[in-house]
Amino acid sequence: METKYNKYRILSYAVIIYMLVALGWWSYLLYLKNNDAFLAKAELLKITKIAERQINSIEDFQLDSDFVELQRKYNLQEKMILGEAAVLALTLFIGIWFINNGYQKQTKAARQSRNFLLSITHELKSPLASIKLILQTFSKRKLNQDQIQTFSSNAIKETERLEGLVNNLLLAAKMETTFDIQKEEIDLFMMTDGIIEHLSNKTPNLIINNSIKPNTHIIGDAFGLNAVLSNLLENAIKYSDNAPNLNINHQRTNNFDIVSISDAGLGIPDSEKKLVFDKFYRVGNEDTRKTKGTGLGLYIVKQIIDKHKGQIKVENNIPNGSIFTFSIPHLKLEA
Ligand code: ADP
Repeated sequence: METKYNKYRILSYAVIIYMLVALGWWSYLLYLKNNDAFLAKAELLKITKIAERQINSIEDFQLDSDFVELQRKYNLQEKMILGEAAVLALTLFIGIWFINNGYQKQTKAARQSRNFLLSITHELKSPLASIKLILQTFSKRKLNQDQIQTFSSNAIKETERLEGLVNNLLLAAKMETTFDIQKEEIDLFMMTDGIIEHLSNKTPNLIINNSIKPNTHIIGDAFGLNAVLSNLLENAIKYSDNAPNLNINHQRTNNFDIVSISDAGLGIPDSEKKLVFDKFYRVGNEDTRKTKGTGLGLYIVKQIIDKHKGQIKVENNIPNGSIFTFSIPHLKLEA
């Protein structure tokens, strides 16, 4: 697919370069012809004026009103030729820019859809395969209570993973069509506490320092902000080592509530920091990557923050890891 687009791009460049060279050549010829025509007309005028005894010398001719008018027209035409050539050349350069831009968008979309297909296939197939295996084990073998317990909790984990994936897919689709925030008062402390409790049950050795104070209320979309916090915290865990150590900070300024989530994990290279918020974007290569995911989480996070008219950024943590910081303006409840 990419090579096909690349072929068209190279072909269009070749055509445009040919047009540029032709344009330069014809403009140059026109310029010379215009000059020749001017010299010939001036010569004819001079001869006529001398024959009619209207002028006596070259100086007289250069001051003659007909010659001045001829020269003015010539200068104007010269400027027109150069101006038109410049405008046409500029148009061609803009064309090149559009082709390049379109090509880059096309390759990005192709890469994203390849990434999406690879990761979604894996993300859907592996929990389904685990659940199927667990159910087959239940039906074929006699299990003791402990085994039933372990198998069931694994099946629940896999089901939750599928549920999370389907929710993210639906949310991402909704973001592009109907999602709008429903403003309500949210207890930020209670919300983060609930998410932390849920994550702690799933993640052994998890340490989260939550510095959000009890009774911190903000106005926003509860469902959306819950998805923002869950996605950021889940990522912070996923991209940390076996003992994730996270911090949640909150700060209130005159205009904003600012929340940051920092981890001491893998970190994100500077060149990828903006890209990670793109739909389906995942750092690294889909064929070799070990972590599970679809590249939808941060896209959803950014869309929700945008809908709140807030901002989100990612920076390096010291000595390692990432800090995701989002700010939400103080919104008002609709009357
Ligand atoms: P997913 O986690 O499903 O791949 P996301 O949209 O949530 O998708 O994240 C996009 C990419 O950003 C991830 O693939 C990962 O490479 C990178 N990333 C996100 N959060 C972190 C983090 N806390 N530390 C390091 N890398 C991260």
